[in-house]
Amino acid sequence: MISVCKDLIQFELLRKKITSRNIGLVPTMGNLHLGHLSLIEKSLKDNDITIISIFVNPIQFAPNEDFEKYPRTLERDLELIRQLHAKNFCEKKVIVFSPKKIKDVFSKGFDTTISIGGPLTKKLCGEFRPQHFAGVTTVVYRLFSITKPKVSYFGQKDYQQFQIIKKMVDDLDIDIKLTMMPIIRDSAGLALSSRNQYLKNEDKDHALDLPTTLIQIEKEFHQLGFQKAIDKFSFLKEDKINDQSWQYLEILDSETLDLASEKSEKILLAGAKYVGKTRLIDNRIVAVSHV
Ligand code: AMP
Repeated sequence: MISVCKDLIQFELLRKKITSRNIGLVPTMGNLHLGHLSLIEKSLKDNDITIISIFVNPIQFAPNEDFEKYPRTLERDLELIRQLHAKNFCEKKVIVFSPKKIKDVFSKGFDTTISIGGPLTKKLCGEFRPQHFAGVTTVVYRLFSITKPKVSYFGQKDYQQFQIIKKMVDDLDIDIKLTMMPIIRDSAGLALSSRNQYLKNEDKDHALDLPTTLIQIEKEFHQLGFQKAIDKFSFLKEDKINDQSWQYLEILDSETLDLASEKSEKILLAGAKYVGKTRLIDNRIVAVSHV
């Protein structure tokens, strides 16, 4: 059974009736694609009840970003959820929480920000979107407090976001398990994103430079070993960053997000690139050997 709650009162009435502790939450901003659906499918498999939130969170967008034009496609999203549910999970309960009004998430006078300090929020996307992660942690905390799940699902696509939410959960001792799911890509290798639909056909090659570059760096780690690959990377990085379309290209320790070093067991290759006005991000996690 699928219930759709478009306001908080309706959702809370339903939530109070749930006795099972076995609840999975999938927070989204809607305009669902196969990446989102992989998270929903995992939650359906793992839990008695899956709550999917669909909320375009205003406080994670800067004034010059695409909050207004962000694609809102609720009816299509509900249809995709219905199809997935009907395929293998008819006996599982799904609640879609898609509040129409911002005040259903941030009540009138809401004046709290959950902000993670330290370098975790300052590098990669944080350097270029300084308020973004505080907007994300605040909305995710709020969604946790409204929905009270046992486990919540996120995509590796937003790897830094996942690490920041993990830090919030650890620091505030929140009793919710976090699960990260792999990046789903299109047949050409571009990570699926709601923003891909801003791309025109002729932008495709330009966009594919992002995943292709990350794959090339990964290959070099396997072929050349850690130090030689790092040395070679510094030239590539200079080239890319000189090309104005790249915002960042970094190799970091995947656990600490500090610069990758001889101590790093796994490294994060992360990039952000503009294709026209559309900003794309992507990453790969690579196990490295130092011998
Ligand atoms: P969004 O609607 O963009 O806020 O994304 C909601 C969730 O879906 C986040 O946890 C994202 O990391 C995840 N997600 C977005 N794109 C993908 C993808 N291509 N593969 C896997 N997960 C994704």
